[in-house]
Amino acid sequence: MKLESLVIDGFKSFADKTTIEFKDGMTGVVGPNGSGKSNIIEAIRWVLGEQSAKNLRGSKMPDVIFAGSTNRVSINRAEVSITFDNSDFYIQDNPEKITVTRRLFRDGNSEFMINQRQCRLKDITNLFMDTGLGKESFSIISQGRVAEIFNSKPEDRRSIIEEVAGVLKYKQEKHVAVRQ
Ligand code: ATP
Ligand code: MG
Repeated sequence: MKLESLVIDGFKSFADKTTIEFKDGMTGVVGPNGSGKSNIIEAIRWVLGEQSAKNLRGSKMPDVIFAGSTNRVSINRAEVSITFDNSDFYIQDNPEKITVTRRLFRDGNSEFMINQRQCRLKDITNLFMDTGLGKESFSIISQGRVAEIFNSKPEDRRSIIEEVAGVLKYKQEKHVAVRQ
């Protein structure tokens, strides 16, 4: 399982469609302050299902849409696609390439897609649950997160271990079954 590419279009400072390809080895992103490095990480978190505008440094979700600059008018839609090479079938029962897309319009309408087919946000969350790739996963460690884990309550720390061990999915399914 490998991150292959990220396409950002109309998301935050990315007014133009921008494709980032992740080759073998390590990828570093460098640039001056305010050039959009953190926006790339936020695009990844957003497409993987982030639902909190605050976690994306905004006050409401449409804040992620390119809001215009001194020489550019604003845009009405943000779209991010992320593609994973799944040729080792790490995510079982899925094709060799998995592309997840999220789109948000200024009027609040949003769309989610897995391999160009419309789906619910829940389908994306389920796809990545227990894979270590979900929006809450530890594949993305933001500043302050390490200290937060050390200082968390025992129950919260337990859920981290459960995510790593891969039992969270079954716990959630049990929770839904018990409620029905
Ligand atoms: P630093 O090195 O300081 O961490 P950075 O490279 O991480 O900087 P970001 O925080 O990713 O930079 O980018 C901030 C820039 O993104 C700001 O110039 C801000 O105006 C711009 N920006 C954020 N949201 C939007 C938006 N919705 N529309 C247009 N520009 C936006
Ligand atoms: Mg930054």
